[in-house]
Amino acid sequence: MDPIRIAIVGMGKIARDQHVPAILGNNAFSLAATVSPRDSGLEDVPHHRALDALLDEGPAVDAVALCTPPQVRYDLAALALRRGVHVFLEKPPGATLSEVAALKSLAEKTGATLFASWHSRFAAGVAPARAWLAERRIDAVSIVWREDVRVWHPGQDWIWEPGGLGVFDPGINALSIVTHILPRPFFLKEATLVLPENRAAPIAADIQFRDTAGAPIHMDLDWRQTGPQSWDIVVETDAGTLKLANGGAVLSLPSGTEHSEDVEYPGLYSRFATLIRGGRSDVDIDPLRLVADAFLRGRRETTDAFYD
Ligand code: NAP
Repeated sequence: MDPIRIAIVGMGKIARDQHVPAILGNNAFSLAATVSPRDSGLEDVPHHRALDALLDEGPAVDAVALCTPPQVRYDLAALALRRGVHVFLEKPPGATLSEVAALKSLAEKTGATLFASWHSRFAAGVAPARAWLAERRIDAVSIVWREDVRVWHPGQDWIWEPGGLGVFDPGINALSIVTHILPRPFFLKEATLVLPENRAAPIAADIQFRDTAGAPIHMDLDWRQTGPQSWDIVVETDAGTLKLANGGAVLSLPSGTEHSEDVEYPGLYSRFATLIRGGRSDVDIDPLRLVADAFLRGRRETTDAFYD
């Protein structure tokens, strides 16, 4: 079978750290081109400054991976889908729920694959955690996602703009795991969003969710964490405590702890190839809907100005 010719659009941090090696490491794909307005791309890979130039002038591509900030992703995705090109959306899949719904309809109409990716769901501990929790009574859940924004998002102005999500940019990764591993749906009861006085997006947030059987789910997000970083989910059940640490890579059950390699992006690209070959899409907006609810129902507090 011929490899799927793919272009990476948006040659920033995640494209270089994860997408390039994952594509080069997967025989189902060939890296046909890159697109980025300012970045100059990779040696020996054709490069364009804009997606329409690539689609007009070639080389021909079957798929694109959109690694841009979310605010510009709808126009790029719609352009590609209208040309019958399959689309891999980095997380979050868009800046609003409605634009993602519009993309989903467009993909159905054109027959191209749309994949709204959630990389944290492919962390090694997540599938076994989901299987273990399927049989349990959930009593309480605690999510602590505390990291240093200066380390992980240096100079990324888009992340502080409307649609950039602020601290929910990493926080939505936790929600992508929790919506996947818990056996019942959950919804927001209360939230406090803390915004620096000079920024349009939160630097911290405290959220109370409740599942449909009444179990409390607490989420603590903070971008001001220096020193050790926390990406932990703890689930109390009738059979003991489950803990997913390190963003889902380390799973602890009452029977012991399993550490695993980073397998997220190879897993995402295997899934994308399977979707394309099967003529299917995968667009789950649950994590983005919970974030939208936090912006809809959360109380705002103002804190000190933040400078990179
Ligand atoms: P980033 O370093 O700021 O890179 C974004 C890139 O998008 C920039 O390099 C920019 O290219 C490009 N871009 C902007 N507008 C464009 C357009 N209209 N057409 C083509 N390219 C455009 O951001 P990032 O950290 O890689 O994050 C990108 C996305 O990946 C976000 O949604 C984020 O949530 C997600 N993500 C990030 C990480 C992470 O660890 N950083 C992890 C997982 C997922 P130029 O430089 O050429 O202007």
